[in-house]
Amino acid sequence: MTSALIADLERGLAAREAAGLQRIRRTLASPQGARVVVDGRELVAFASNDYLGLANHPEVVAAARDGAARWGVGAGASHLICGHFAPHAALETELAAFVRPCAGARALTFSSGYLANLAILTALAGRSDAIFADRLNHACLNDGALLSRAEFVRYPHADAAALRRRLAASKAKRKLIATDAVFSMDGDLAPLPALCALAEQFGCIMMVDDAHASGVFGRQGRGTVDHFDVHGRVDIQVGTLSKAFGVLGGYVAGSAALVTFLQQRARPFLFSTSHPPAIAAACLAALDLVEQEPDRLTRLWDNTAFFHAGLRSLGFALGATESPITPVMVGDASRAMMLSDRLFARGVFAQGIAFPTVAHGQARVRAIVTATHTKDHLQTALDAFAGAGHDLGIV
Ligand SMILES: *Cc1c(COP(=O)(O)O)cnc(C)c1O
Repeated sequence: MTSALIADLERGLAAREAAGLQRIRRTLASPQGARVVVDGRELVAFASNDYLGLANHPEVVAAARDGAARWGVGAGASHLICGHFAPHAALETELAAFVRPCAGARALTFSSGYLANLAILTALAGRSDAIFADRLNHACLNDGALLSRAEFVRYPHADAAALRRRLAASKAKRKLIATDAVFSMDGDLAPLPALCALAEQFGCIMMVDDAHASGVFGRQGRGTVDHFDVHGRVDIQVGTLSKAFGVLGGYVAGSAALVTFLQQRARPFLFSTSHPPAIAAACLAALDLVEQEPDRLTRLWDNTAFFHAGLRSLGFALGATESPITPVMVGDASRAMMLSDRLFARGVFAQGIAFPTVAHGQARVRAIVTATHTKDHLQTALDAFAGAGHDLGIV
């Protein structure tokens, strides 16, 4: 590296730090759960996406341990070379039956949701095509769209009328609509039925990313195609095994032709090692729990209702959330980081989120409710928000 580059990087980092925007990694000294140990302190945790508390569930842990004993640790190769193991095959069969966005759906697994999105967009869209994307979509949908070299058309958040105008003006050969199902920083839902209607009217491929909806929305957590009852109207349902399922990996579910095409052509699928078979076995155990024990999902939604009502009655603004994702709006970036720090001092772990993750002036603390929180945990957090919010003049 040249010294000019290093000086440049150091200046940029110093400016971020001076503005109170430096991101730090908190090191966990415990498994994921309603309480976690960070910096030698036990905190009530609202920062993870472990919605159902499966990341440290004994049956999921046992499946990973037994899987490692049986299959080893590394997958050794990509799926098409020799890295496709029996647990991957079983997981794909079970996921397809569970998610089932259309009759005869099949599923394909990836080592992460991020890779699944890169795979789909780069395989299905190219130079003569256009990808229509909600302005608040997750970074990996944007990255996949840019990598595809297709025209990248963003529409205002959840605005079907604005999307219609852009579709009507497009001359692209193939058109693809891509949206988060649940927006990860706001917790609101995409207007999926309206988007499906536009996809039908304009002959588009309809793609929905269920990362924060897998295991959370729809019957037993089948996702938003089920939640909105738009079966057969969504071509591509992507999801993750890394959030509510508590493990790691991405999946795509769709028609046999689509899934076979991705399996043959998607570069992130072809050129990256498959995720460890023991991890696929752990995903299978998690899927079993999701299907067999719906009480967890009921608790998740009860906790969400209690927590949202509590924060709102304290005077906090939570935007338009319809999910366990709870954006506590602050506005100014450094004050959002201060709120997160004050909560931390009061024993509550919730991250401050600022630009570039959200727009300038829309900084917030994001708290994620889980099924494993007790009413005591939630009340502790409400008390901490009340105290810290009062100290900072937010409420
Ligand atoms: C988290 C997330 C992803 C990435 O999933 P991973 O399995 O963590 O790679 C993709 N899309 C959305 C909308 C997400 O929130």
